[in-house]
Amino acid sequence: MMDLDLKERVRAAVDLVDVIGASLTLVPKGRMLAAQCPWHDDRSPSLTVNRERQTWKCWVCDIGGDVFSYVMRRDGVDFVTALRSLAEQAGIEYQTGPKVDAGSKDDKSTLLAAVKLICDAYFDQLDSPSTDDAKIARDYLASRGIDDEHRHLFRIGFAPDSWDFATGLLKQNKFRAEIPVAAGVALNRRGGNGSYDLFRGRLMFPIHDMQNRPISMGGRVIPEIAARHGENAGGKYINGPETKLFRKSEQLYGLQLARESIRKGGQALVMEGYTDVIAARQSGIEPVVAVLGTALGEAHVRTLKRLADRVVLVLDGDAAGQRRADEVLELFIKADADLRVLTLPDAMDPADYLNQHGREALQHLVAEAPDALEHKLGSLTAGIDVTHDTHAVMQAIDTMTGILAKAPMLDPLKQDQMILRLSRTFEISQARLEDRLEKKRAEEKERKRKAARFRAAADAAGRDSRPSETSAGPGARNAGPATRNTPPAPAGSATGPIDPNLLLAEAAEMELDDPWSMEQSGAAAGPAAATAKPSQDREVPLSGFDRELFETMIESPELAGRAVEAIDPEWLDTLSAKMILAAYQELDLQGRELTVETLLALIENDFLKNEVVTMQFRLAQREGKITQTPEQRFQSLLEQFHRRENIAEKHRQIAKLESLALDENEELDLLKQLFDSEKDRQQIDH
Ligand SMILES: [Zn+2]
Repeated sequence: MMDLDLKERVRAAVDLVDVIGASLTLVPKGRMLAAQCPWHDDRSPSLTVNRERQTWKCWVCDIGGDVFSYVMRRDGVDFVTALRSLAEQAGIEYQTGPKVDAGSKDDKSTLLAAVKLICDAYFDQLDSPSTDDAKIARDYLASRGIDDEHRHLFRIGFAPDSWDFATGLLKQNKFRAEIPVAAGVALNRRGGNGSYDLFRGRLMFPIHDMQNRPISMGGRVIPEIAARHGENAGGKYINGPETKLFRKSEQLYGLQLARESIRKGGQALVMEGYTDVIAARQSGIEPVVAVLGTALGEAHVRTLKRLADRVVLVLDGDAAGQRRADEVLELFIKADADLRVLTLPDAMDPADYLNQHGREALQHLVAEAPDALEHKLGSLTAGIDVTHDTHAVMQAIDTMTGILAKAPMLDPLKQDQMILRLSRTFEISQARLEDRLEKKRAEEKERKRKAARFRAAADAAGRDSRPSETSAGPGARNAGPATRNTPPAPAGSATGPIDPNLLLAEAAEMELDDPWSMEQSGAAAGPAAATAKPSQDREVPLSGFDRELFETMIESPELAGRAVEAIDPEWLDTLSAKMILAAYQELDLQGRELTVETLLALIENDFLKNEVVTMQFRLAQREGKITQTPEQRFQSLLEQFHRRENIAEKHRQIAKLESLALDENEELDLLKQLFDSEKDRQQIDH
């Protein structure tokens, strides 16, 4: 978890109204402000902003939060990146480690300035009328069909055919000797004596971050210039190395330009080269990005999933493209995304294809692109003689059922379709295929269970004092390892500070094995029902009961303090509620105010933030209409909690009576306890 003080300082230093107002027009709406929501087709301004509380909410999209979640959503970035960018805006020193020496290779703003200087210089070079090489570069760019408008939009430049253009320029501008290499534009000379330019005689494509700042670049060879250097000309493409600014596994080329259209259309196309992105954009297809000399990875998909539901990977129709399609399948299952694969025909790349067939043809292929699973099936069955090659058929079925078994989110309809197709393709009955799939699922579940048990054991070894099994409530009836079923510990137990964000991540890892999610959905937990359950169960909205509690806590921070003492997280209905209470407990432990603002600063999870803000906005709407005071509502809630607990306790005792062979005295004892608790309950009732 990020340092809460830092989060609070940043939150205090920026005004949500300014942040939203920078890109949207805000108008007064009652006591609040409102803007047209950029995340749905909004005619009336329905994105409401509460200036006082520094929160926002769109009821249509059911999203909302504080300034951090607004920036996360707007820029499609994670919490840490949003925090960093707001901190930078507010001029708050972000570095928590040792202080960075300004101007050194560890200083990001120095590196940013250096990369910008070089990119601008390359850009100007391409326009330079004075050199023959610049003309060669311009002609070559034109021969690739890239027009002036898009040359400017993508800031395409030209690196002169020189060993010291970039290094010299940086030196001239008083950058330290270590900067050219640290910024990714130069290489160290052998023997450690200075550095020389990485990009020479190439077309340059700057890579921008979400704030449209250049952070790295890639260079494409220009054949006529490369011919002078023979074998030493280097590869067709050279990508900038990983630096403090640039991570290939996270960065997507063109995302800063494509972001809006990806969000609007709900779909992102991922291509493999800069020129493909530019060609697509030029033909009028905007939601296009490219990976940067690496395969599409989990981090990329995570970024894109924040913006759009559907990701279409457009692969060149050559062997490398085919190979890559297989890698994508694992990703499809792991990242749980609607990931489609389009392999272009006749070994064409997207730019070629667009040239020959035009935009509509490509859009048609994109719309028809099979998902990664179907794509894999296609490649598995290609070239198999189904009627004769029994061995190959069995292998293909084994592979496919194994893949299907790994997909927890697999839509039952999709599964039926896949089974049907497998059945037709291989002439094997659906029942037998389903059988095979169930077996694979059982294996997969066992594997997961073992992994979870291992994690739990490792976890228990790491923390000496977990709450004892007697306090574990419903979990205690399970014979399984207690630690796995143990929710956030009650306040004041010896477990030390709780990190709700960490807990949520842990819960996410448990996926299907999560006992809470099973209970609250009330699923008749047959094996099929269990495996088909979405892993997003942790994101179950609060129950009415939970909400009632938190609304009183939001309304009255004083009551919140008492609730933290009095409420056992076990009593709450949903994992989400347990997490929010855990966050309150953490604030209490740290001696912070128990307000919505501090609560939001602590919680980093989008979903939980929206739950909190929704309650806060709902409270504001009901203002003046609630007759009971928060105190009265809190008292009645406490009574209801106790009543529910009594009933649960009674059930536990009855279960004990039924399951244990007790001697007469013990049985009598238990019955007496039951009777007493029943008496207590009735006294509470009346
Ligand atoms: Zn909206």
